Amino acid sequence: MGDCLFCKIARKEIPATIVHEDAHCLAFADINPQAPTHVLIIPRQHLADQRALADAPAELMGHLYAAANRVAAAKGLQSFRTVVNTGAGAGQSVFHLHLHLLGGRPMHWPPG
Ligand code: AMP
Ligand code: ZN
Repeated sequence: MGDCLFCKIARKEIPATIVHEDAHCLAFADINPQAPTHVLIIPRQHLADQRALADAPAELMGHLYAAANRVAAAKGLQSFRTVVNTGAGAGQSVFHLHLHLLGGRPMHWPPG
């Protein structure tokens, strides 16, 4: 989508610290990290949120998780958390589907 921030990052119109990319996804450092490692994994296809996966190939989310695993391994993370916020009430602020990968510090439960 033309005016979507993460589509612009995927098109390299806005700079980001990219740590992985392939035909279907891109992973880059979160600009406001909440942990020593905080990487966002996005599909190249614009999907507003998790619910829009209904319009995507069934294997897409598995591909995003596989990319998260690759980044976690490359960062040497022994444990990590993956999060998808769906809707403003859940904390979603960018409406292009993304998986947060957080690691490098102790994680607490339940999340806030
Ligand atoms: P969410 O609140 O789940 O929609 O997550 C959006 C994330 O995008 C937040 O953690 C922001 O810090 C991050 N973010 C916003 N703008 C940028 C940007 N230009 N580059 C990297 N991360 C960004
Ligand atoms: Zn987009």
